[in-house]
Amino acid sequence: MIQPADYEGEIDQLHQALGIAADFRRQCPLPLQVVPDRLVSAGVDCFDRPQQLTEEAFQAWTAMKRHAAGEKVEMFLVSAWRSPRYQHDLIAAKLARGQSLEQILAVNAAPGYSEHHTGRALDIGAPDCEVLTEEFENTSTFQWLESNAQKFGFSMSYPRDNSWGIAYEPWHWCFRVAAC
Ligand SMILES: [Zn+2]
Repeated sequence: MIQPADYEGEIDQLHQALGIAADFRRQCPLPLQVVPDRLVSAGVDCFDRPQQLTEEAFQAWTAMKRHAAGEKVEMFLVSAWRSPRYQHDLIAAKLARGQSLEQILAVNAAPGYSEHHTGRALDIGAPDCEVLTEEFENTSTFQWLESNAQKFGFSMSYPRDNSWGIAYEPWHWCFRVAAC
């Protein structure tokens, strides 16, 4: 099991490696997102990459997708669990391509602050829609999610004009409570 102090130390190291200021964590409005002890396989995403989720989130996602399919609504996984190290590598690659840290952190959470670390957040895709674009809000999949996702314990984390100041992400949904 990861001890909280060790985890925070790891996050500090990843931030330091990227040149993120030492006071970033004190000023970040987002909560530190902790990696769960246990993850299960969630199959592959739309790019054929193996994905993982917590067991509860995976069961809820599977049930939600099946119910949607029963109503002729298709949805698929674009991305699920990501480690803080993965988030570091993603940011490091963008820095290497010449983007500034400020530009990158406007669209990518710093390591430790992505909801994907929890194994409960999903990026969802729909047929005939480029993944991870605002166009997703115009799909029947999105409309179905707006009406039904809550029954399965999922909610959209970053609606338009959210209080976190994070860009609108209609494709990003997080499992928060057990379905009742
Ligand atoms: Zn996401």
